[in-house]
Amino acid sequence: MSSGPRQPDIGARLTFDLSKPGRTACSLPPCDVPAAELPPPQLLRRELNLPELSQVDLVRYFLALSRLNYGVDSGFYPLGSCTMKYNPKVHEELACLPGFTRLHPLQPLETVQGALALMYDLQRWLAEITGLDAVSLAPAAGAQGELTGILMIKAYLADRGEEGRRRVLVPDSAHGTNPATAAMGGFEVVTVASDNQGNTDMQALASALDDGVAALMLTLPNTLGLFEPNIGRIAEMLHRKGALLYGDGANVNALLGRARFGDMGFDIVHLNMHKTFSTPHGGGGPGSGPLAVKGHLAPYLPTPVVDKESEGFVLATPERSIGRVGLFYGHFGVLVRAYAYLRALGVEGLRQVSENAVINANYVLARLRQAYHLPYDRRCMHEVVFSGSRQRAKGVRTWDIAKRLIDYGFHPPTVYFPLIVDEALMIEPTETESKEALDAFCDALLAIAREVEKEPQVVKEAPHTAPIGRLDEATAARRPVLRWRREAGNES
Ligand SMILES: *Cc1c(COP(=O)(O)O)cnc(C)c1O
Repeated sequence: MSSGPRQPDIGARLTFDLSKPGRTACSLPPCDVPAAELPPPQLLRRELNLPELSQVDLVRYFLALSRLNYGVDSGFYPLGSCTMKYNPKVHEELACLPGFTRLHPLQPLETVQGALALMYDLQRWLAEITGLDAVSLAPAAGAQGELTGILMIKAYLADRGEEGRRRVLVPDSAHGTNPATAAMGGFEVVTVASDNQGNTDMQALASALDDGVAALMLTLPNTLGLFEPNIGRIAEMLHRKGALLYGDGANVNALLGRARFGDMGFDIVHLNMHKTFSTPHGGGGPGSGPLAVKGHLAPYLPTPVVDKESEGFVLATPERSIGRVGLFYGHFGVLVRAYAYLRALGVEGLRQVSENAVINANYVLARLRQAYHLPYDRRCMHEVVFSGSRQRAKGVRTWDIAKRLIDYGFHPPTVYFPLIVDEALMIEPTETESKEALDAFCDALLAIAREVEKEPQVVKEAPHTAPIGRLDEATAARRPVLRWRREAGNES
């Protein structure tokens, strides 16, 4: 597919522009009740500025807008670290069952035993998957799981009279939320460098590790998509110094059924239900970032956790709980999808997930390595990080390559992250894509690499087929036009 004509900019043609006085999208029957009196005129707005459209114009307008959306259900979405995989529709149907959706969070416990049983089982299964002892389903996202974990570590250390541990170590290959979390928790963040293999530099770790360290936050696999081969030794070093090992398990689709955080020596880990466990995401919500911990941290879990007693399931507050991290019980609908996903797949299915995730990423690695620089040349886990440095030598940035992919019909991968890779191009194909889909995407990136050689201008000016070309991103972020006003044209 080469550069075709740009689609009409539907955003510039708002319903207001289509408005014709007197048109309406529905015809109401004659009023069969007495007309109520209007409020005093000073309370009424004179100009409502409502567009007047026929029904068919309205339907066509919104359908055209909806077609501008790109999602996992419309195409390949290789956004690294985000796990934009396909989620089976049956899980949506289950989460929409009235027995779940019509629950009220303040209902008496004896009337919601089914929902509590679901949460109880999910807690147990996530404990098993992570190899840890206790689980809280309360955190509403990965980053909130991290903050919850860091606050628990703080409370745990305080109880042991170890408030002097003021530092949290974070490898430079960690997800950006890790240092942000440690800082929000009131700790000083110390960055630990990676070595030239993309692993934690053991020398750097040893010299940063002293009695002032509270924890190390390690993303596994790290944001280079690599497994940390020294993880056993790292856990041992930390524990010998009295520090804790926090795991960022947001990308556990690389490990399911094959490696467990508890077995590797982690004390605490969060998972992202909205990445690995079948909740569609993007656009900011709702998520779920359960936290799994070793026994010594279980008394600090946020309240409530679901417990089983002789009279049935109950909501309990752990003994030294850090308190609530949100209203009620976490995002229940997300938990239902995760439950359904685990029930549908079973242990063998989960092993297949991690196998497919890793094989798919390595397939992309193998197909693209001749055309794009691979800074860490080794087998990857669920994602692969290339560098656009070769293309930049021709005057084309990774940014341009990402924009050109839009012309080929693909959502671009994550770019310029992780920060330790120059011109990073971070591709996560996910476990749900077929070989044909991976091939089509790789063919596009290979074609773009050839364009960079022969006609770089085409790449630098992409996208050519999208309704909107390149925005002034700073202005779009700082002075976004969010509202149409009749008086001032369509300025904000
Ligand atoms: C997505 C992600 C996070 C943050 O999760 P949110 O739910 O977006 O807060 C943290 N760490 C890693 C490795 C991630 O991929």
